[in-house]
Order: sequence, then C-alpha cells, then structure tokens
Amino acid sequence: MAALSLTFLGAAGTVTGSKYLVDLPGRRILVDAGMFQGEKEWREMNWADFPVPPSSIDEIILTHAHADHCGYLPALVRDGFKGPIWCTYGTAKLATIVLMDAGHLQEKEAQYAQEGGYSKHDPALPLYTVADVEKTTPLFKVVPFDTDFDLGNGIAIRMTRAGHILGSASVTLSTPEGSVLFSGDLGRIDHPVLRPRGTPPGSPYVLIESTYGDREHPDAKGLEHEAMADAVRRTIARGGSVLIPAFAVDRTEIVLKALTELREAGRIPVDVPIFVNSPMAVAALDVYREAEGRGELRDDIQPEDFFNLPNLREITDPEDSKRLNHPDHPSIIISSSGMATGGRVLHHLEAMLPDQRNCVIFTGYQGVGTRGRTLLEGAKQMKFRGRYVPVKAEIVSDGEFSVHADASDLIDWLRDLSPQPETVFVTHGEEGSSDAFAAKVRSELGLTVVVPRYKEKVTLTPHGTYAPLSPVTGAVPEPAAVPAPAPRPVPHPPSPGGKLLPVRKVADTHADDIDEIAVILETAIGQVPFLPEAKQPEVSELLHEVLGLVRGESPDLGAVREGVNLALYAAAGAVETPGGQSIVALLAHVPKILG
Ligand SMILES: [Zn+2]
Repeated sequence: MAALSLTFLGAAGTVTGSKYLVDLPGRRILVDAGMFQGEKEWREMNWADFPVPPSSIDEIILTHAHADHCGYLPALVRDGFKGPIWCTYGTAKLATIVLMDAGHLQEKEAQYAQEGGYSKHDPALPLYTVADVEKTTPLFKVVPFDTDFDLGNGIAIRMTRAGHILGSASVTLSTPEGSVLFSGDLGRIDHPVLRPRGTPPGSPYVLIESTYGDREHPDAKGLEHEAMADAVRRTIARGGSVLIPAFAVDRTEIVLKALTELREAGRIPVDVPIFVNSPMAVAALDVYREAEGRGELRDDIQPEDFFNLPNLREITDPEDSKRLNHPDHPSIIISSSGMATGGRVLHHLEAMLPDQRNCVIFTGYQGVGTRGRTLLEGAKQMKFRGRYVPVKAEIVSDGEFSVHADASDLIDWLRDLSPQPETVFVTHGEEGSSDAFAAKVRSELGLTVVVPRYKEKVTLTPHGTYAPLSPVTGAVPEPAAVPAPAPRPVPHPPSPGGKLLPVRKVADTHADDIDEIAVILETAIGQVPFLPEAKQPEVSELLHEVLGLVRGESPDLGAVREGVNLALYAAAGAVETPGGQSIVALLAHVPKILG
C-alpha cells in the first residue's frame, strides 16, 4: 500500500476551483484552495461540505493569488483549518487584497439578493464574510523563491517563478514517500512586466495546467494591440466610451502598460481620460510598483511604464464609480472582474451595454458560463440584478493580453524538466482543452498522461508509477494510464538513510548561497511587522545588521552565523505569533546553508 496519495478536488474538468489534496502518513497538505467560478453546477460546489474536515488539513501551499486558486481559503478557515498557508511574498500581498475584496463582494451580493428577493436562502447568505478573511490572512507564511524550504519530517517545498502574475510559483513538494511538481498557472515565456518564469527541478509526477492546452497564441502580426487601438479610436470618434473588463491583479497593469505605449505612439487619442475603477486593482497597482525594489520586475521595465499616464485616475469611492457611467466626455474605464463575474464592472456593463456608441473590450480568457463568454458569443440581452438589459454596445476581444502559456509554451515547460516526469496529470482546463493537450504530450514527449476526473484519487510511489484508487463512477479509464515499466530516476539524490534530502548541504559556501541567505533575510525583514510590537525593533535591527554583513565585500561567515543566531533567538521569543513562527522557520535555513 503506497503511502502518498493525491486527490483532485478542483480544476479537474474545469479551469477553476484548484485544490489538490496530498495525503501522507500523519500529514495532510492541500495545494491551492481555489473558488469555483463560471458555470452554475461548478459554482454550487463552493457551497457543498468540503470532502475532508478542514481541521484535518495540516497546511496549505498556495501557487498564486488568483481567486480560482486562493478564493476558497476563508471558507476552510471558517470551517476549522488552522495551519500555516505557505506562499511567496508577492502572493501573500496580493492574496490579502483579493480575499478582502472577495469577502466584501460575498457580503454585498448576499445583500443585493436579499433586497431583490432572488436568493435561494432566506436570509440570503454570503459564502464567507470579511471577518472570515481577517482570520485567514494572518496564516500566510512567506517562503522565498528557489530555496528548498523545510516543512519538517523530511518534507520540503521549493517555489520556482511561474511568470504568470506577481508572486506566482510552481511548487515542488518533496516528501520521503515521493515527490510531486505542481505547475500552478504558467505564464508565457515573456511576461510584459514580470521576470520570466524559471525551470523547477523535475519530479516523477507533474501536474500541469491546460487552460490554453488546445490553442496557440496568434503571432503578433503588424502593430501590437491593434484590435484594441482600433476599437478605442472608433468608439471615441462616435462619442462613446470604452469599458475594459480586466482582472484587478496583473491584467490591469498590463492593460495600462499597453495604453501608455499606444498613447505615446499616437495610436489612440491623448486627451481621453483613463479610469481604473476597482479598489482591488488600485491596491494591486501599489504591490506591483513596490515589486521593483525586490527585483521581481523585468530588467527593462520601470513601474512608471504602466502607471505614468497623465490622465489616469484611480477610483476607489463607490459614488465616483457610479458617476463614471454617464461621463461628460468619452472615456476609457478599466474595471474588474475580468470575466464580468462580479465587481464594479457589472454596474458599468448594465449602464453601458444598451448604448450602441459604447464598446466593451475583453482582455483575456473568458470561462464557459461567464458573462464575458456570453457577450463574446453574441448575447442580445443580459440579466443584471434580476433585470434584463439589451446589448447594443460593440463587443471586442484583444487576444494579445494572455498571461497563460499556450500549448507550445506548456510543452516547452515540460520538455525542460530534468528528470522527465514518469506521469503527467493534466488539470486546469476545460474538457476539450485538457484532452487535446494530453494527446499532444503523448505524441510529442512520449510521456504517460492522465486527465484526472473531479474527486479522483491516485496513489504515488517515490520512483514513479501510480494507481487510481477511486475513479469517479462512470469514468472511463485512460488507455494511456498504464504505468510505464522502466524505473525513472528520483528527483533528488537519496541520503544514506534512504530519505530525500530536503535541504541542500554544502561543504563550502558559494556566492549562490550568499544570495540565498540575502533572500531569506529580506523575506524575514518583510515579516517583522507581524511580530508583537515590543519585539519588532530588536529583531528588525539584528536582521538589517546581518543583511549588511551578507552584502559586504567578502562576507565574514562566522559573523553572519552569529548574527542570524541572535536574530533567531530574538524571534523565537515571539514564536506564539504566526509571524514569529515563520521568521524562525525561515532563519533556521541560514545555518544549514552555511554548512
Ligand atoms: Zn491564475
């Protein structure tokens, strides 16, 4: 009986609700806790009891801050989850914004439903509340990129940049029972704003997303974003306004960068006011601006490149937001959510769709069942708050904004893994997309590929080969799912005890290790504000001192070790707080790196 099992509790047969449950002897880990979005049959799963008691989950690992990966966290916390939520610094920052917004939205929607009398529950219930979110965000624990991070009992995780949104990571989970790589959502080779994605260490088992598994992004022919530029020009010329639904996180930044470039090139009128109308997007913009200081943006990019529009206005006040619906002059409004599943974009659509002078430009993937998809498919009317409005505005799609890898990008990511996986689980795609991508992986890379069903459970072994435990009733077993006979190399060299070695032991310290220590110290400094106030100055000062030492010409490793130990000791005094625990966990790595 194998000891490591994996259950697909979301993003199986759909692109949303990412949740993968990993069971080990004495340990239960959830990778991502996404909300189901889009089609009603999936959305209703958000309200079902979670398949295992949330209190039985020891910890959660988060790949990135999109709601379909983190939006279910507050429901788990409300229902008893108390463990740490491991994620990168950028993800912790952005997920806090995303979840606060989601909590407000849930409360508001329940209120509207109550007032409009169209709720199934009486009184109308929110899925979770802002109070649930406030209990969730203190559980975030920051993990640096590109470092084997010890979770205890021989379990380690390594975050590798995924180039999808700020903070996004692929996660390699190494355990004594085997190792699994979760791709998370993968960006294209070339993100317009972020540092490019990296190549994670290979694992016998790999889960890979397949949002665009059946498509290739069109090669940019001619001028970039001409679909958008042209739509803006003709809309403004006829006296209409442009609405750009965009995900508040990442997409808004990229849309602003594109608008800046179009404006500077004289391809759209310069005097049109541009509004970012989403409190979440405005908050996320700040996180992107600040990311420059942490080296997370492309070398050739300054934050000014995406917010330096002279007539840009950031709207946070709800009354200002409503006034935008009847502007004195044509304007461009960027608002979320990107698929028009909720948020302020809804009241803009309700007000703007009936006027044929207006234009709506979609800037990304529109999931089945979302208002965005319905509009792109030519809907003639649309229901808002229980009432239909006619759709007369022009509907346009600019396909050049995607930050999801296309089929070739995904194949390239798999091909770069070393060692190659023994089994690939294709997830996070609509059915046709996952199946098409699975076929491509089989034919181009010759790997064993499985498209798991929702709630399917498989057992894994350290060297590869897996066994389906409980395929969903009626599911047809994949013909290619037969375990490959040849044993594959393990991802990390086994230690003499036969266990995987979670943390690299180095006899002598190299420049890379010093860089790694600097990353750990910087991350720890970022966590000091989470400590009790009385502890903050002492720990902060010690950490800054050691960072100074590390950055010195030829660092005195003895002094570094001594300084880190002092900081560890000081932080350990605050270990009762989540911040204390995570700083101690982080700093404990420095002595290991020093050998
Ligand atoms: Zn995503």
